[in-house]
Amino acid sequence: MATIGIDINIAKTILEEGNLVAIPTETVYGLAGNAFNVDAVAKIFKAKNRPTFDPLIVHVDSFERLSEFTEELPAKAAQLTAAFWPGPLTILLKKKAIISDLVTAGLDTVAVRMPRHALTRELLKSLDFPLAAPSANPFGYISPTSAQHVNQQLGDKIEYILDGGECGVGLESTIVSFENEVPKILRLGGISTEEIEAVIGKVEVNSHSSSQPQAPGMLKSHYAPKKRILMIDALERVTEDFSTYGYLGFNVFDRRFKLENQILLSESENLNEAAKNLFGGLRALDQNPNINAIVVTFVPEKGLGRAINDRLRRATAK
Ligand code: AMP
Ligand code: MG
Repeated sequence: MATIGIDINIAKTILEEGNLVAIPTETVYGLAGNAFNVDAVAKIFKAKNRPTFDPLIVHVDSFERLSEFTEELPAKAAQLTAAFWPGPLTILLKKKAIISDLVTAGLDTVAVRMPRHALTRELLKSLDFPLAAPSANPFGYISPTSAQHVNQQLGDKIEYILDGGECGVGLESTIVSFENEVPKILRLGGISTEEIEAVIGKVEVNSHSSSQPQAPGMLKSHYAPKKRILMIDALERVTEDFSTYGYLGFNVFDRRFKLENQILLSESENLNEAAKNLFGGLRALDQNPNINAIVVTFVPEKGLGRAINDRLRRATAK
């Protein structure tokens, strides 16, 4: 198991040696390595068992650092970063040569973000390089929103987990591309479409999942528990007894399931709270030995609800 702690100097030393540290962010925990060191980046893919066609997000704490490895921001990108950085917004920018093809899966753009979590910002400030960091979970599984989640799954692959408590947003960042005239959201996330459009006007949303993704966050099946998982409307077709099924509800319990097998995302119908509880709730049901399948239900399709529903769709995709 990894050591869980709050010592930035330990994290810094490990990263400077070209090794990996799990870091807290406001979205989910990241598995971080030196983005300028291709060997460190290779370790990230290996530890996660992540296919190399799935590019990484690079984390910075300043625009000076950003300009070391990216070309200039398009105007609308600058407007968005002014509004939402530090925060759960990732933008795609043309990369400079210092960023290896491994980070970007051979693309000429690199995904970048300035995270908001104080501990990780302090760590980034202390380093001479930015951090490449995908979510700190085995590829395809539910994302981690606490240090303990990381330790459960990657604890034998990393030395140190920087403990920043529970993630405040609980969903991955929103990814925006500026390749076309109209910016495009490639992945729904912690900044809602409404918030983005309020700053830069109409955007396209790529909400269609596929098995041949343009961006791997678009993979059809992702964020999946180990147990069987199904949408509530699929329950009609279940012929076996489902008294051992677990239920991840939005605001109200469902009498068809045992009360102790149910978790609600937000009794007060607050979508931010629901987002924060989503991955932890799924994980708790997945780990509950009394449950052998998980039933989920969509939340209202607005604000962060769109991103929550996107994750539920992928978690239940075959
Ligand atoms: P994760 O950090 O695990 O949430 O995954 C990062 C996600 O960022 C990937 O799955 C991709 O969807 C996306 N991404 C990273 N770099 C690029 C890029 N250059 N172009 C498009 N999408 C990217
Ligand atoms: Mg991920």
